[in-house]
Amino acid sequence: MASVSAWLPFVRATGIGWVPIARNPIPPSPVPKDKLKADSKVKINVSGHVFETWRHTLDKFPDTLLGSDEKEFFYDEVTDEYFFDRDPETFRHILTYYRTGKLHYPRHECLTSFEGEMSFFGIQSDVIGDCCYEDYRDRRRENQERLADD
Ligand SMILES: [Zn+2]
Repeated sequence: MASVSAWLPFVRATGIGWVPIARNPIPPSPVPKDKLKADSKVKINVSGHVFETWRHTLDKFPDTLLGSDEKEFFYDEVTDEYFFDRDPETFRHILTYYRTGKLHYPRHECLTSFEGEMSFFGIQSDVIGDCCYEDYRDRRRENQERLADD
């Protein structure tokens, strides 16, 4: 009689996936063990301020840094979190984008700084919500005029 372990590889190959990903005999990598579990929580440390969200929340936007495998370069095995040496104030808005699909422009923030964070995380300005778009556009125009004056 065949042992259980003999047919395990077949079950894996069919992609049924009942075997926890963490048990897979994949060579050690810097990737979290439960990486592919969409319902796992993810810790994101931004300059010491720790944010938590669901992995599937980040997976919603695969064209961005946090939604893609690119974030694995920022994964810290020791603390089991992603570390970003970026502005935590702006990051709050970036995370809200993953939750709601809209990016809000914080009026009190410097536009250049805000756009720098957006481009670092790979987020396009066309996702700015209607509620904030006019403010963003006006500020952008002001900024361009100011820079042209210099
Ligand atoms: Zn808004």
